[in-house]
Amino acid sequence: MRIEKCYFCSANVYPGHGTMFVRNDAKCFRFCSSKCHKNFKMKRNPRKVRWTKAFRRANGKEMVVDNVYEFEKRRNVPVRYDRELVTTTLKAMERVAEIRAKREKAFWKNRMSGNTAKNAREAALSIEKHIELVQPRSKTVPNLEEKEKIREKIKVRAASRKVMAQQQIDKAGGSKKKKESRLIPAEGGMGMGMNVD
Ligand SMILES: [Zn+2]
Repeated sequence: MRIEKCYFCSANVYPGHGTMFVRNDAKCFRFCSSKCHKNFKMKRNPRKVRWTKAFRRANGKEMVVDNVYEFEKRRNVPVRYDRELVTTTLKAMERVAEIRAKREKAFWKNRMSGNTAKNAREAALSIEKHIELVQPRSKTVPNLEEKEKIREKIKVRAASRKVMAQQQIDKAGGSKKKKESRLIPAEGGMGMGMNVD
C-alpha cells in the first residue's frame, strides 16, 4: 500500500481517496480534495499559495533540510518479503516519527524565539497610542486631573518597556541572520506546464 502526497498541498492521499489527473504525457497528479484540484485547474503555483506545504517550505516556515526526511522517500526498488525486515522497519518508523517531532518542535521554537520581545514592544506601543482608553485600576473614580497623572505614569512606563524590547530585538537581530526566501520564480507557464520533479 502506498500513501501518495497531494500534488498541491502535500497532504497524504490514502488509497481510494482523492482524485488523480493523468496528463497526456502520462504524468500523474494526485489531489486530496476538490479544493486542491480546482486550484490546480486554475493554474496556481502551489509555492505561491500560502496554505500549502510547498509555500511553507519555500519560505523557511518549516524544516527543510534534515536527514529524518530521507527515510520517507519514494523508492521504486522491489524488496523481497522478509519478516525480520518488516518488524525492524515498523520499529524504526515509530522512532523516526518521534525524532522528527522533536526536531520540528525545536525548529519551531527557534523560529518563534524573537516573538516575546516583539509582542512586548507592540503591547507598549498600543498603550502609548491609545492612552486615552486606559482606566485607573481603583474603583473610586479619581477626578480628571488625577486620571491624567496616572495615565502619564503608565505612558512613561510603556515607553521604557518599548525601548527595552527594542534593545532585545536588536541584540537578537545581530546573531540571527535575515531569512532568505527560497522562492524560485517559475519559468514560463505555471501549473500544467510546470515540471516540479
Ligand atoms: Zn491537497
